[in-house]
Amino acid sequence: MALINEHFLKLPNNYLFSDIAKKVNSFKVTHPKEKVISLGIGDVTQPLPAAVREAMHKAVDDLGTKENFHGYGPEQGYSFLIETIIKNDYASRGISLEPSEVFISDGAKSDTGNIGDILCHDNSIGVTDPVYPVYIDSNAMCGRAGVLENGKWSNVVYIPCTAENNFIPELPSRRVDILYLCYPNNPTGTTLTKEELKKWVNYALANDVLIMYDAAYEAYIQDPDVPHSIYEIKGAKKVAIEFRSFSKTAGFTGVRCGYTVVPKELNAFTLEGQKVEINRLWNRRQCTKFNGTSYITQRGAEAVYSPKGKKQVKEIINYYMTNAKIMKEGLEGCGLTVYGGTNAPYLWIKTPHGLTSWKFFEKLLYEAHIVGTPGVGFGPSGEGYLRLTAFGDRENTLEAVARLKKWL
Ligand code: PLP
Repeated sequence: MALINEHFLKLPNNYLFSDIAKKVNSFKVTHPKEKVISLGIGDVTQPLPAAVREAMHKAVDDLGTKENFHGYGPEQGYSFLIETIIKNDYASRGISLEPSEVFISDGAKSDTGNIGDILCHDNSIGVTDPVYPVYIDSNAMCGRAGVLENGKWSNVVYIPCTAENNFIPELPSRRVDILYLCYPNNPTGTTLTKEELKKWVNYALANDVLIMYDAAYEAYIQDPDVPHSIYEIKGAKKVAIEFRSFSKTAGFTGVRCGYTVVPKELNAFTLEGQKVEINRLWNRRQCTKFNGTSYITQRGAEAVYSPKGKKQVKEIINYYMTNAKIMKEGLEGCGLTVYGGTNAPYLWIKTPHGLTSWKFFEKLLYEAHIVGTPGVGFGPSGEGYLRLTAFGDRENTLEAVARLKKWL
């Protein structure tokens, strides 16, 4: 008799986006003539940059020749991509990394979800709240999150980030072993300054906390005081793993590529207190369970850093950030309170008149035919907020803002 991993049974049945899809579908069935604009799910809409497409076409042709054929690749990624990443994303900011500290993957969701494989189930977890749901759910799947009681997991320390504290998390009062930080933040679109991030690195150094730093939206940062990498902070290599993604940077949500930095200086401990290099464990895990990202994809990712690629990626990011500006100004003009949207493609809206997140979601859908994401779906402190994304195309963004103005 095969026994299941019963921790899966503790997970709530409905995933946020399938709940939303059901509600949107029932609206469409009852209102077949209305055009619904989706500013809900965080997928991109602009096509892959030409430089990336050309590199991928060429890579396909490589595979058709005997000299340039590539079979199984290194699980850690090809050195042509790793070296390009180190040079452009890190050395350019004064951060030195060895090639063996960078692991190419099929995206930040897989890596942030899988990293727990190499960590003991007894660790306590800290998350800023609200946050990208994968961190908690992946911990719940192996029992590390404890049990779900009144909407909160018993072994998770929730660190509220709301308008009341200006979305700046305070150091937790309860001990955490592993801490997830996501900046620029999904869903609030807010960021931390270098000084604020330093506070967290110092806390981790003083308390042997392992930080999982998800910088999937790093490319959207506009302010010079906002760090792009946690390794810009002194000592961070001793305490942090950093996750990056090409998904939102360069339209790779369908192509699939990201990477994770696991510095050699980073250690965790056995129960007896013996130090172990996390890099060694992650390498071992990847070599056994991960097949590597395809050669074609990695050549496409490499092209993101070519002069042409950089220019095209910048244009895409400017496009989404212009959407964000249009939305922010439009919504504020309607009297709504809006956070984020200046260093991230997300706008975090305070629901008016004390409406709950779901109530505001429904009013927006039924009265303006716009789909947002209820903030409470990202954690208890998301109640009373709604997330809109700037990933729509310009026409839809303008129409959505015009509708909102009329509606409000
Ligand atoms: N991390 C955050 C904070 C995200 O919002 C997302 C996607 O929405 C991901 C990671 C997933 O990125 P990827 O597409 O690289 O798996």
